[in-house]
Amino acid sequence: MNIINRHNNELLEEIAQLKARVAELENIQPAYRQVQEQRNILAEREQAIRAEFEHERQQRQLYKNWFQAVHEMTLDGFTILGCVRDAGNKVVDYNWLYNNPTAEKLMGKTLDDLKGHTVVELYPTSISSGLFDIYQQVMETGLPYETELRYNGEGIDGWFRSVTVRVENGVAISYSDITERKLAQEQLNFQANVLSQLYDAVIAVDNEQRITYWNGGAERLYQYSAEEVIGELVQDVTKYAWVNSELEKSGTWRGEVFHHKKDGTRIFIEAAISVLKNEQSEIIGLLAINRDITARKQIEQELRDSRELYRNLTEAIPQLIWMTDETGQTTYLNERWYEYSGLNAEQLNGQNWPNLLYPDDHALTFQKWVEAFKAGQNFLSEYRLRAADGSYRWFLVRARPIHNAQGQITNWFGTSTDINDQKQALETQKELDYLKDLFVSVAGHELRNPLTSLKGYAQFLQMNLLKQAKAPQTSLDTDKFLRSAEQIVRQADRMEDLITQLLDFSRIQNQKLELNYSRQADLVELVNQVVEQQRTTHPNYSIIFQPPSEPIKLNFDVNRLEQVLDNLISNAAKYSPENTGIKIRIESPSAEKPCEVIVWVQDEGYGISEEHQAHIFDRFYRERTSETKKIDGLGLGLYVSNEIIRQHGGRMWLTSEPGKGSTFFFALPLASADD
Ligand code: ADP
Repeated sequence: MNIINRHNNELLEEIAQLKARVAELENIQPAYRQVQEQRNILAEREQAIRAEFEHERQQRQLYKNWFQAVHEMTLDGFTILGCVRDAGNKVVDYNWLYNNPTAEKLMGKTLDDLKGHTVVELYPTSISSGLFDIYQQVMETGLPYETELRYNGEGIDGWFRSVTVRVENGVAISYSDITERKLAQEQLNFQANVLSQLYDAVIAVDNEQRITYWNGGAERLYQYSAEEVIGELVQDVTKYAWVNSELEKSGTWRGEVFHHKKDGTRIFIEAAISVLKNEQSEIIGLLAINRDITARKQIEQELRDSRELYRNLTEAIPQLIWMTDETGQTTYLNERWYEYSGLNAEQLNGQNWPNLLYPDDHALTFQKWVEAFKAGQNFLSEYRLRAADGSYRWFLVRARPIHNAQGQITNWFGTSTDINDQKQALETQKELDYLKDLFVSVAGHELRNPLTSLKGYAQFLQMNLLKQAKAPQTSLDTDKFLRSAEQIVRQADRMEDLITQLLDFSRIQNQKLELNYSRQADLVELVNQVVEQQRTTHPNYSIIFQPPSEPIKLNFDVNRLEQVLDNLISNAAKYSPENTGIKIRIESPSAEKPCEVIVWVQDEGYGISEEHQAHIFDRFYRERTSETKKIDGLGLGLYVSNEIIRQHGGRMWLTSEPGKGSTFFFALPLASADD
């Protein structure tokens, strides 16, 4: 503006001078004509200058309008800052001279808001963001400065691209908000970074199957760097043709394939391939995400092998094997369970197997299991399990918890081992030990009594006979001698009887009690004989037998049955007061019981209390009451008798009431075991 004004002034002065000159020339003849001519020239010149001046002004206005329009219309912010200088003329701050509408919009402030303030005062972040330094640098060097930076402060948060140039006593800045682009770019960078960082191999190929992308995962997996393979045919690199009919049909394919590494190693790959399209939905290639599953496959194979091995093991060993989940629910039973129980998988599922437990073993087994389960400790118990034939066998059951890597229980593994034979052997051993002790004490005591008395009588005889030998004149008390000899024989019989019982017991224990059957022997006749004999042995009892009218012919061991009858009748006498009656009856086969003969031996003796009746046929079992405690016996007679009847295929039982007497029965089948 100043330049233009100055120029105008000069022109005006020139015009004035020319005018003075004209005046001079008017006075000066002959130059008047020339003056006239000069005036004309001057007028033309003045006109031309004025026109030029006008044109220039218009031009200036146009530029001014354009400048205005450009800065008002542009989407970039445009700001002119003026320098604020200190006393030493050093630039220390800036203030606002001009802001276009976009700048006002970006800053959220009008020029009026900013007037009277400085940049440092209103926008301190310009210092920390480096913006202020840029202004200073541009002021100092005069070189334009272009940058992208993030401004976060004073209500502004975004990325800006700016160009700063120096103008007279200040800087002009053109800037635009590039936050969106920057974020998009960041996201793109992030995605590209993620892709390259992915552990999986990400590979893209174009429509000619040439590799266009090869991330870090692919480099790691195939041992080829991206530079080595970009542009190469993918099947040359991975040694596997990528396209298949399913991929062509559906646009995606998933599967497991073998590829090769650079060093030739074969690798098992889990691949997911999909068709790659551009924005116009045109197919531009394929994208594959490949993962090395060689190790996983190997582990799977090892797992399969070890499962198979484990399965074979569990099926091969004789134990019953079971597994539960962490809640204690049975999840597996080996084949032996089905063989042992005779049940199929449906009948013997996880819930049903406890039904095989012997009822008495339920409570203890479950109590122990619950304790072990709660404490997460080994479980050990013994129980009886029902076998296919309905019998029960003893098992030793052990279970232990199985933990995962975190130490949590995931399963319980248990075995049930058949210990029935050991258990029985142990029981038998215990019983034998018990019987041995019993035998020694009972036999010792029972044999000693007759032996002592036998010895007493024998010593008496010996003493008297010695006396007589020394003094032959001494007379012998023949009656006394005879009674002593009788006692000796009686005690010897008693001992023989005891020894026979003990031998029979031993035979039964060793399962060597053999029967000697007589064919079609008459039971009635046998009972008659025994009763006759017992009447002589027990003259103080009235032994009554009313034989049936018809003989009863059976196959039986006459001696053994005689032994049974002897035992029952002598017991009837032994456990009854003298002068009481003993009745013997034979119940012939009837319509009601057509297949057996029943023999009764009934007494009026001391009787047997109910609790003892249950054990009366047990070995060495004796009831000791005030009446019976003095009566000798081994407690084997009924045991042996019962065994003899049992071996005949019969049975033995009793009814009794203390103080009133007992009746012992035995039944023999008409068709004996010998038939
Ligand atoms: P023992 O007579 O040698 O003791 P047994 O086996 O013959 O052995 O009898 C076992 C037990 O049964 C006897 O000790 C006795 O307590 C009881 N007993 C047997 N027969 C009778 C009976 N008729 N009346 C009462 N008790 C009897």
